[in-house]
Amino acid sequence: MKEGHTFDYTIIGGGLAGMQLALAFCNDSFFSEKRIAIIEPSSKTINDKTWCFWEKGSGKWDNLLLHQWETGLFYGAQKSISMDFGDYSYKMLPALNFYNFAKAEISKNSHIKWIEDRVVKVTGDEIIGENNVYKSSWIFDSRVPEKFQEDSKSVTVLQPFKGWVIETEKDEFDPESFTFMDYRLGHEDKTCFTYVLPISKRKALVEFTFFIPELIEDRVYDEKLKQFISEKLNIESYSILEVEQGVIPMSSYPFWNENNKNYLKIGTGGGWVKASTGYSFKNVERKVAELINSLKFTKTPQKAAWQKRFRFYDEVLLNILYQKNKKGPEVFERMYSKNKAHEIFKFLDEETTFTEELKIMWNTDRLLFMKSVFGLLKK
Ligand SMILES: Cc1cc2nc3c(=O)[nH]c(=O)nc-3n(C[C@H](O)[C@H](O)[C@H](O)COP(=O)(O)OP(=O)(O)OC[C@H]3O[C@@H](n4cnc5c(N)ncnc54)[C@H](O)[C@@H]3O)c2cc1C
Repeated sequence: MKEGHTFDYTIIGGGLAGMQLALAFCNDSFFSEKRIAIIEPSSKTINDKTWCFWEKGSGKWDNLLLHQWETGLFYGAQKSISMDFGDYSYKMLPALNFYNFAKAEISKNSHIKWIEDRVVKVTGDEIIGENNVYKSSWIFDSRVPEKFQEDSKSVTVLQPFKGWVIETEKDEFDPESFTFMDYRLGHEDKTCFTYVLPISKRKALVEFTFFIPELIEDRVYDEKLKQFISEKLNIESYSILEVEQGVIPMSSYPFWNENNKNYLKIGTGGGWVKASTGYSFKNVERKVAELINSLKFTKTPQKAAWQKRFRFYDEVLLNILYQKNKKGPEVFERMYSKNKAHEIFKFLDEETTFTEELKIMWNTDRLLFMKSVFGLLKK
């Protein structure tokens, strides 16, 4: 083992989860004597995504935000709903703002080493990279497990999307309000929607998204974005400044099964994406806080998984989207018209009581939910 390649903690992947964990190590004196490495193949200089999330009041990333909204709209096929956010704001954070901030913070800490390498394999406490071999007492790995790609037992729905940041010649948007989901433009009986995030009167991110079991050809997204901008936003003249594209896996796969005494999956690879929504930014913050606590106090971070009953609810909704994909728009329209948005956000943040959860499901589509529950119980 080469000098300087042995660590107490090693983070594989300097993306959202890896960098948030590294920042937490920087900010806690408990870890100031530890030798820490973060292994990442890229220099993270590209704005490869935009994170949106809801949060009550001010939050720890507010200085990095591009925009935030206190009001939003939901468009179902039948009607539009003005969403009641209560105390929540919906916030938009460009990934590059976060990467630049995190890298600058990490570089101020000499006990944390940023290593540009690609990990090929992990065996016990040994990490084999393309350039070097490393040894670490604890390993936090954000690579998505290969077994997940082969798995056929779990319910998996994909969230593929494409977005354009557009600029218009005239004032077209209201930057005070955004469109959370718009189901008016469908595609072949599938669950798909558009959302619009206006950053100024002339600039907005418009994104077309599916919740589907299998991927759809790329040309469909371009056609839908064009159609939506023309027919629903009534905008004819605009330029495309940026393109954002990705696929978020929404799955009941037990990612944490790969964890062991000194090895922990984190981020998407650790199941930190909320299975029923694809959101993960705030979950990463929560999971990192839990992980730091367990490293300091209980020394058993592999136990940090999701609350079982919420995992079950996620699976119930995933099962509906998987088995009866065309029902999605109806389900979401009912959900957002019969419940207040802030009640749903609380539920999705897994902070509700059992009674509150029953109320949301009862108001949504009780028959469909019951059928999905029985379908899962019979498995
Ligand atoms: C385009 C896009 C937009 C999204 N928008 C939102 C949103 O609005 N709100 C929200 O809550 N969630 C969103 N998500 C979901 C989720 O928040 C992100 O995917 C998030 O980046 C996941 O964090 P992560 O650390 O698991 O993965 P990543 O941020 O992708 O980081 C993984 C890192 O691991 C590195 N890596 C990969 N292989 C290796 C290897 N072999 N060795 C070493 N390093 C390796 C990669 O280079 C990467 O930097 C979005 C996802 C995508 C793809």
